[in-house]
Amino acid sequence: MQSLDVLRRSPTADYVATVLSSVALTPTIKAIRLRLDRDELRFLPGQSVWPKFERDGRKFSKIYSIASSPSACPDIELCVSRVGWSSAVVQDLAIGQSLPLRGPYGLMTLSELPQRPRLYIAEGSGIAPLKSQIDWLRECGYKLPVWLVQANPETPDQLPYQPYWQQLQQTWPAFHYRDAIAQCPESVLVNLRLKLAAFDVVICAVGDRSDQLQETALALGAKPDQLRSEKFIAF
Ligand SMILES: Cc1cc2nc3c(=O)[nH]c(=O)nc-3n(C[C@H](O)[C@H](O)[C@H](O)COP(=O)(O)OP(=O)(O)OC[C@H]3O[C@@H](n4cnc5c(N)ncnc54)[C@H](O)[C@@H]3O)c2cc1C
Repeated sequence: MQSLDVLRRSPTADYVATVLSSVALTPTIKAIRLRLDRDELRFLPGQSVWPKFERDGRKFSKIYSIASSPSACPDIELCVSRVGWSSAVVQDLAIGQSLPLRGPYGLMTLSELPQRPRLYIAEGSGIAPLKSQIDWLRECGYKLPVWLVQANPETPDQLPYQPYWQQLQQTWPAFHYRDAIAQCPESVLVNLRLKLAAFDVVICAVGDRSDQLQETALALGAKPDQLRSEKFIAF
């Protein structure tokens, strides 16, 4: 297990993962828990791995964010939305089946405890890299405010990990959760009236939605140099 106070990333390397569990979080999103073949992966919360696939004799790879804290290694969790061939393969892996993958990759990370309050905005499986960061902050006993605004365009009234966030809000005083079920995340953000200039803002959503949420955050006072975002697109 990786210790909390020494957060570092290992060189990118190949691993073979074995499926420990595969659980539906919503009708389209699953959490897939994997155990790596060795305890060498060190990643920063927000990073990703590239599972490797073979189809019609051709090899290719797709990128998936790690949804669990670095402290859980050699176990990692993926949070995958079923949209096309690769995501269906990952979702349909049986318990005990193996999946070669390569990592870690990615720059939307945390490497030390942040000095400002944080606002996380997630849509759909975009919750994955944000969950890794939030889990790590909680484990560190982070005391500055951490807000999460969550929506899911695929099934708007069913949000991945929602019971977990609701429970976390009861047990971690710094954490504040708002679901965007009855209204869009933009309206939730307007109604929150947070002084965003004082916040680090982190956004993850699919395609153009990431840009749209970023524009909203900036219009509400977020500082461009305190805003990071990631866009889930198919390569
Ligand atoms: C940095 C990065 C991290 C990523 N992390 C994750 C992750 O943690 N979980 C995850 O589910 N996906 C993630 N993705 C997307 C993932 O890499 C694949 O692109 C996705 O699973 C679609 O591949 P596919 O072969 O199933 O479908 P394809 O046939 O390649 O794509 C079908 C359509 O789905 C759209 N799409 C892509 N990703 C999503 C998504 N997540 N939700 C809804 N629609 C989507 C594409 O724009 C495309 O129009 C990430 C992408 C990037 C760039």
